[in-house]
Amino acid sequence: MSELTEISNLGEFGLIEHLTKNFETQQASTIVSIGDDGAIIDHFGKQTVISTDLLIDGIHFDLMYNPLKHLGYKSVIVNLSDIYAMNAIPTQITVSIAMSSRFTTEAMSEFYEGIFLACEKYGVDLIGGDTSSSKKGFIISITAIGEVTPQHFVKRDGAKKGDLVCVSGDLGAAFLGLTLLEREKKIFLENPKIQPDLENESYIIGRFLKPEARADMIDFFEKNNIVPTAMMDLSDGLSSDILHICKQSNLGCRIYEDKIPIAEESRNAAFKFSLDPTMCALNGGEDYELLFTIPQDLFEKIQLNNQISVIGYMTDAEEKSKLITKGGNIVDMVAQGWNAFGAQ
Ligand code: ADP
Ligand code: MG
Repeated sequence: MSELTEISNLGEFGLIEHLTKNFETQQASTIVSIGDDGAIIDHFGKQTVISTDLLIDGIHFDLMYNPLKHLGYKSVIVNLSDIYAMNAIPTQITVSIAMSSRFTTEAMSEFYEGIFLACEKYGVDLIGGDTSSSKKGFIISITAIGEVTPQHFVKRDGAKKGDLVCVSGDLGAAFLGLTLLEREKKIFLENPKIQPDLENESYIIGRFLKPEARADMIDFFEKNNIVPTAMMDLSDGLSSDILHICKQSNLGCRIYEDKIPIAEESRNAAFKFSLDPTMCALNGGEDYELLFTIPQDLFEKIQLNNQISVIGYMTDAEEKSKLITKGGNIVDMVAQGWNAFGAQ
C-alpha cells in the first residue's frame, strides 16, 4: 500500500488547491468561483433559494459504515433535495469542512470525489467553502443555492382543503438500510471475524448510503404546468413531515395506509427484522422523496407519472391528521420525529 499523506504536509491552502483543482464550473450563473474572497452569482432575474445543513461525525453519520465517497455524495444530495423541495433548481454549493489529524489527504480526496460526482450529476458548481482542523472527528457544512422563477417557488403553507396529498418514489427503505447496517456493525463489534452479510439487500443499503434527490419531479411539474400548493422533502418520516404541511397550512389530513408506496425489497427486509413496513415508512427518515399537495383537478395529470402516489387528502384543521389503516380503523398520525441518526 502506498504511503498516506498527512494533511499537515500540504497545509490548508495546499489541501484546498489539491481537492478542487480539477473542478470546472458548468452554470452560466457562476460568475466568480473558488479562489477569491467571495463567489459571485447572477441568476439573471430569477429569485435565489438558499439552504444549509450541518453534518457531524457520530451524530449524523457513522464512518464505520458510511464510506467517505458516499458521504460526500450524500452530503450534497441532502442539500439539493431541500432546494428541489422549494420547486427550485440548484445551481451552486459551498462546502465547509473541519477534520482531525487522523484524516489523510487521500481520505479527503475520496470525500471530494463523492462531492464532485453529485455536482456533475445534478449540474451544480462548487463555488467555495472553508477548511479548518478540528480536535476530533469530521464536520461538514454544505450550503446549496438555487434559482426559481418568481411565482413558482412552493412553500409548506399553501395547501388547501380537498387538495390531494402525494409522494414521489417509495418510503421506508433508507431506515431499513440503516437498521441493517447498525445490526451488522453490532455483530462485527462483538466478533470482528464475522463478515457482514449485506448481500441481497443492495436496494435498502443504497437508499441509505447513496440517496438521490428528486430533480425529475421538478422537471415533470414544469413540463406539465403543475405548481404544487405545498411541498417539502421527506427527511424525518412521513408522519412527522406531513404535520409540518398541516400545521403551516392550518389544515388536517387523511392518509390511507394502503396507498403509501413501499418497495418490495423494503417489505421483505422489514419482514426479516420483524418490523411493520408501514411503521418504517411513517417513522423512518432519510428517504429524500418529495411530499406535496395538488388541487384535485390535477389528478389526471399526476397519473401520467408512475413515480407519484396519491396517498390521501387535506381536511379542515379540526379533523386533525389521521391514518386510515388497512383494516379501516382511523388512528392519529403521531410525529415520532425519528430524526436522521441524530435522535438515537
Ligand atoms: P479566506 O481566507 O478568505 O476564508 P480561504 O483560504 O479559506 O479564504 O479559501 C480560499 C478559497 O478556497 C475561497 O474561494 C474559498 O471559498 C475556497 N475554499 C476554502 N475551503 C474550501 C473547501 N473545503 N471546499 C471548496 N472550496 C473551499
Ligand atoms: Mg477560509
